[in-house]
Amino acid sequence: MARPGAELARDVVACPGADTCNIAVTQSRGLAKAIGDALEEEGLAEVGGVRINISGCTNSCGQHHASDIGFFGAERRAHGRSAPGYQMLLGGYVGQEQIHFGDKATRLPAKNAPKAVVRVVRQFADERNAGESFRGWMERVGGAQAIGQTLKDLDVFPTFDDAPEFYSDFDETGPFVAEVGDSECAV
Ligand code: SF4
Repeated sequence: MARPGAELARDVVACPGADTCNIAVTQSRGLAKAIGDALEEEGLAEVGGVRINISGCTNSCGQHHASDIGFFGAERRAHGRSAPGYQMLLGGYVGQEQIHFGDKATRLPAKNAPKAVVRVVRQFADERNAGESFRGWMERVGGAQAIGQTLKDLDVFPTFDDAPEFYSDFDETGPFVAEVGDSECAV
């Protein structure tokens, strides 16, 4: 928390994901870096009041379920191939007495998830009222489904010939394969 960026948009949290986890579906750490880089490039890394958490599968080691912007990894099929994808959740938080899980916004190809985060963080930064929380802003503009609708154009897989990178995960060069082994971690 003492590092520069703590509690700012650039402070993206991810579980180990496919780097080391035997049951991971996606490279959650690679997505975290890509999101951080995209926010830096767009001048949004220092937006406060928005937490971003990523898990490489439906388990919640990355705490995606309780984050303002959460992702969990999932295999997608497009044009006859496997591809890395994510479900985006919005508006999760830890309340006084219970955890409120984030609401489903949209599914996304992994490679479009950073663009989706840039759009949401920019919209939040532009539209929030003084002191307004991410959850408060989100509900005022129509909730996760309404925001998700504005991102639907990103839930598209180009063909492999047009964009082969959509069929490889972050930090990998080969084709995406969702190889899930026996659990080794705490879940
Ligand atoms: S089991 Fe936990 S550490 Fe492994 S990919 Fe899933 S959420 Fe991440």
